[in-house]
Amino acid sequence: MPELPEVETVVRLLRKRLVSARLLRSEWRVPSMVKGTIPFFKTTFESHSIHDVTRRGKYILIHFDHGWTLVSHLRMEGKYVEKNEANLPISKFAHVSFYFQDGRRFDYEDVRKFGTFEAVETSRCESLPSLRQLGPEPFDIHDRKAFYPRIQRSQRPIKSILLDQTIISGLGNIYVDETLFMACIHPLTPGSIVSDHQIDAILDHSQRILNDAIADGGTRIRSYASGEPIDGQFALKIQAYQRTGQPCSRCQHRIARITVGGRGTHFCPRCQHDPHYPYVIGITGSMASGKTTLLNQLASKGLATLSADAIVKKLYQKRTIQTELQRLVGHDVIKDKKVDSQKLLTWLIHDGHHVKKLEAWLHPLVLKQIDTWLQKHIGVVAIEIPLLFQSDADGYCDTIIAVESSQATLLDRLQKRYPMHDLEPYLLLNERNDWFKYRPFIDHVFENNGRLKDFLASIHQWYQDFITALPGQDSGGFQTTPVRK
Ligand SMILES: [Zn+2]
Repeated sequence: MPELPEVETVVRLLRKRLVSARLLRSEWRVPSMVKGTIPFFKTTFESHSIHDVTRRGKYILIHFDHGWTLVSHLRMEGKYVEKNEANLPISKFAHVSFYFQDGRRFDYEDVRKFGTFEAVETSRCESLPSLRQLGPEPFDIHDRKAFYPRIQRSQRPIKSILLDQTIISGLGNIYVDETLFMACIHPLTPGSIVSDHQIDAILDHSQRILNDAIADGGTRIRSYASGEPIDGQFALKIQAYQRTGQPCSRCQHRIARITVGGRGTHFCPRCQHDPHYPYVIGITGSMASGKTTLLNQLASKGLATLSADAIVKKLYQKRTIQTELQRLVGHDVIKDKKVDSQKLLTWLIHDGHHVKKLEAWLHPLVLKQIDTWLQKHIGVVAIEIPLLFQSDADGYCDTIIAVESSQATLLDRLQKRYPMHDLEPYLLLNERNDWFKYRPFIDHVFENNGRLKDFLASIHQWYQDFITALPGQDSGGFQTTPVRK
């Protein structure tokens, strides 16, 4: 479907080619496409000259010099085709032909016959029902304070609001996806929680995107054909629309596709945060690297926190889980109604497949608990997950941080933590956590080899920078105090 930039491109071409041209006669072959009768259209426009061609929303207004305007809408596939000579063959899809005094012919072609034509006195254009309902274009919204409530009084998703031509006109599916991507707003965000600041971003980005597209001649300019080659170049700059599965140009996360109000919708789940979930800091790293210290520091700053290890510990207390564990590992893994962690550890390191077996069963259970917990929270939260990437928990995280320590430091800490134990199994397990392979997806790595005081200071510094850069902070976006829904 042609969108505003394509229609504007057609209008500019028609203006260039048709102003001052005198219409000698016209043939209208499909009565259902004209609002009125064919004889009325013929007598109204024939023998008159075109004075200007303008646009309102996606309507093309062809103004004649005797004070009448032909209003044309291309709908799905309408197209103007310029013919240098009046007697060139007529396509079976040419439903209207305009013959001009200078010998040229313009055909209106439309495979599906959805296009429409209306005739109106130029002075009464704005009172035409189809034009009267149109909201302002992004370019025409000068009083923004008066415009904010038009969006904020709606509970509908922002994607649907922006597609509603009675609220704001000219933005179709492609440009709404592109605008929301640039403004970092999730397409499902209800209008009522979109801030003034975010609406400013929507208006600024949509104007720029539409202007760029108009300058480039539209995305897919199929709505005009003539001897002049016209190529829509804008397609090359598209960042979200129909880029499902490709990396986001800002953060490399995969572009996702959902359906909103029946329309295919493309967005970056990371840059365009879903307001129904909290903002999640994921923490990973080796055993004894200092992950828990980091988590506790964030808790002391007021964030709600969760630890995957704590979830596992709780799961291990459940009778059903213990039974399953016995089936997997052996009967004696449960002693006095408790999981014998030494037994489990020995079983785990005995065979590489054992780890995979346990994880394939345990990880989905842990993820389910994490999901339930996340749905109960808003604002910013932190989760510590040793196997964050390996368990696919990274999909929940907006920011991922890791803690790294040298092998010597890790050994030293483990010796202090488990003075009477054989450390070999722990070291082996630690080796299996190859989180550093995922380094390109980690936003910040803490080095923790020195004194605790330095580690705490580096956490504090990082947190200050993080809060400052948090999206939407300046508009009351994410809260950094724990809030339960
Ligand atoms: Zn992104």
